Amino acid sequence: LIQLYIPLNFMGMLYREIKQALIDIDDMFGILERDPEVVDRPGARPLVVSRGTVAFEDVCFSYVPERPILKGVSFSVPAGKTVAIVGPSGAGKSTISRLLFRFYEPSGGRILIDGQDIAEVTQDSLRAAIGMVPQDTVLFNDIIGYNIRYGRWNATDEEVAEAARLAQIDRFILSLPEGYDTPVGERGLKLSGGEKQRVAIARTILKGPPILVLDEATSALDSFTEREIQDALDRVSRGRTTLVIAHRLSTVVGADEIIVLDRGVIAERGTHVELLAQRGIYAAMWDRQRQAEAARETLKRAEEEE
Ligand code: ADP
Ligand code: MG
Repeated sequence: LIQLYIPLNFMGMLYREIKQALIDIDDMFGILERDPEVVDRPGARPLVVSRGTVAFEDVCFSYVPERPILKGVSFSVPAGKTVAIVGPSGAGKSTISRLLFRFYEPSGGRILIDGQDIAEVTQDSLRAAIGMVPQDTVLFNDIIGYNIRYGRWNATDEEVAEAARLAQIDRFILSLPEGYDTPVGERGLKLSGGEKQRVAIARTILKGPPILVLDEATSALDSFTEREIQDALDRVSRGRTTLVIAHRLSTVVGADEIIVLDRGVIAERGTHVELLAQRGIYAAMWDRQRQAEAARETLKRAEEEE
C-alpha cells in the first residue's frame, strides 16, 4: 500500500477541488480496480433511501470472464440490522462490498436498496447513502481535522470533535502538538493502523449514512486497540443497516445473520449459535480462532514470567 501515497497526493488535490467526490477515496483498492466503464445510465435517478434495506439477488460476478468470483449470491440486510460476512481469504467478501458501492457491476442478478436496483440510480446518490470503513484507510496529506471533515464538508468544529469522541480518537488528537491542525499522512505524522481506522470511523460518523459497510482490518491490532475500535464500530452501526466483513469472529457474535462465503457461494448462514450447532465451516473457524487466542495468551504469560 505504500506506493499508493504517490497517486494519493495527486488525488488529494483533485478531490479537494471537486469536494463531494464521485468515489470514496477511502477504498483505494476500489478506486484503482474500479472499472472505468461503470457510469450512470441515461436518465438515472437519485436513489431514494427510506429505510435502508439492502438485498443481493442471485448476484454473479467475475473480474475476468474465465474466473467466476461470486456464483449466485443472495442475502438481504433488513433496515437497521447487521449482517456479517465471513469466510476464507479470497472467498469474494470484499468483492461484495465493491459491488454494493458499484465499483463494478454484477454480471448476473441484482442489488437493491429499498427496492431500487443500484444499477439504475446515480452513483453520487448511491455513494452518499453508504459509509465505508475500509480495511486499510489511506489518509490525505493534510491536517487530521480535514481528514475527518471529509465525511461532511459543512460540519462544524463541534461536530468534528463529537465524531472524533465517538470514534475514540479525540484524546489522541488532543495530545498532538497542534491538535486538530496536526498534519498527518505521508508528509505529516504517521498514524498507526488502529488510529487511521478510527479516523475513518470518525469520518463515517460525521457522514451519518443510512447504510454502513465495514471491512475489518486483518492486521494484528493489540487487544486494547481492537476493543476500542470495536466499541467505536458498534456505536456507529447502531440503528444503521450494516454489512460487516469480519476477520475476527469475536466481532460477529452479535450479528443478526452471519453468512459464510466460500469460493463465491454461501456455504452456511445463520446466527452464531445456529452456526456453531451445525459443526461446519463456521464452527471450525471459531475453534481455530479460539485456539490461536489461547496460544497467544499462554505465550504472553510465559514472556511476562521471564
Ligand atoms: P476476500 O475479501 O474474501 O478475501 P476478494 O473479494 O477481495 O476476497 O477477492 C476474491 C477473489 O477475486 C480473489 O481470488 C482475488 O484474487 C480476486 N480479485 C480481487 N480483485 C481482483 C481484480 N481487480 N482483478 C482480478 N481478480 C481480482
Ligand atoms: Mg477482503
